[in-house]
Amino acid sequence: MGVRVRPFECWDDFKRYRMEYYRNYLEAKENGSIRWAGSAWAFDPVPAGLGEDVYPLTGEPYGATAAFFRDFSMRALETIERKGAARDLCGYMRNYWGSVAMDRYLLADGAEIEPFPKPDFNFTIHICCTHAKWYHYAAELEGGVPTYAVDISVGPGYLLNDKKIEYVVRQLEDAIQWMEKVTGREYDDELLIRAVENEARSMTLWSKICKLNQNTPAPMEEKSMFSFYVMTLLRRSDEKVVKLYEKLYKEVESRVKRGIGALTQEQFRFVTDNPPPWPFLKVYRYLEENYGAVSVGSIYTFGLGAAWLGMDEKGENWIWEPAPTPEEAGYEIHDRRSALWWTAMFNLKYRASWQHEYSHWIRKQETYQMVKDWKADAIIMHLNRGCELWNMSTLEVRDYLVRNGISVATYEGNMADPREFDEARTFNVIDSFMQSLGIEKLT
Ligand code: SF4
Repeated sequence: MGVRVRPFECWDDFKRYRMEYYRNYLEAKENGSIRWAGSAWAFDPVPAGLGEDVYPLTGEPYGATAAFFRDFSMRALETIERKGAARDLCGYMRNYWGSVAMDRYLLADGAEIEPFPKPDFNFTIHICCTHAKWYHYAAELEGGVPTYAVDISVGPGYLLNDKKIEYVVRQLEDAIQWMEKVTGREYDDELLIRAVENEARSMTLWSKICKLNQNTPAPMEEKSMFSFYVMTLLRRSDEKVVKLYEKLYKEVESRVKRGIGALTQEQFRFVTDNPPPWPFLKVYRYLEENYGAVSVGSIYTFGLGAAWLGMDEKGENWIWEPAPTPEEAGYEIHDRRSALWWTAMFNLKYRASWQHEYSHWIRKQETYQMVKDWKADAIIMHLNRGCELWNMSTLEVRDYLVRNGISVATYEGNMADPREFDEARTFNVIDSFMQSLGIEKLT
């Protein structure tokens, strides 16, 4: 008998938030509000202290949206290449730069608006060699936008100490003074405190939701998760995002209890690793429809914006358990300093995607443990030329997994450049891989 499936009740709520997010940024200046741009990993609770009418535009999700709309993406990529950008730079960044250079802004439904809305300031972090440079050059293209980047490259969370946290906290304290200067606004610590608490709740809730996908049948497939996880990257410090995740958590929990799955026939479970090829998400559909294969998650969707315990104290094993919120940890946030300390510590220690940059070993443990915990039959790895940071370690991880008895398939592509993906070849790779595992086509 097949598995019962049904659409997500909160689907439209997530969709609506995303539509409003890009529109709010666009229209902010009509009401005298503030808008800022920066990496999705920027400390987004920090600008929240400037007022309740502060609207961000995070670059990576914007780049992914642009890539999804292939025609727009092609024009953006070619525009920025004519200005001299190399094709091996970050795919998201090239889409973003191209969009600015064309002076065209994209809404979540693909509608194009002219001109590209210039931010009041750029505020970002720096962990891969792209982040700060991304916004320095964007600022130049926009005719001069004040830009501030926070260096977070202090090493993995299990080796974190007070000195390293302090290094980041001091940069955030300076950033607040800088924001007051560039916006002319007085900073409100109460808003910061609320935003820091919301950030932790959003990130931890998303980890709890991901954990529920360890069940069989899986209540979610990864293509749907792409629409859910992104809230942790758009504006996780927003109370509305916390509410969305609370609603989703209840719904996924209820799906598990009632045995509602993502596919009518779950014949095969796999996980993935890197950002997907956004213009070719049909790879997931192909696997579902032809093989009853469900992607139950990835290092990317689980690790980018969620908070996990991560490596144990000895740096030996990875633990996929949700990190504690300030309340659960018994930590009281009562002023600017304690708020900045928490957000710095929380992100440096528990943000999964800030850990594996420092060693192949971490990425190996993280991936191996995900395959085991989510009961996956295999991993399908995207050798993604669009992101130098996330593609680091990929082949070492592949070897490690194979040596430890895990079935692995790899395909080449680019998360955000449609010219670097061979659809027919990828489907061939999938078919050969499934054949080698003895998985029959459904029809
Ligand atoms: S190269 Fe990767 S990690 Fe760096 S900014 Fe681009 S997407 Fe992010």
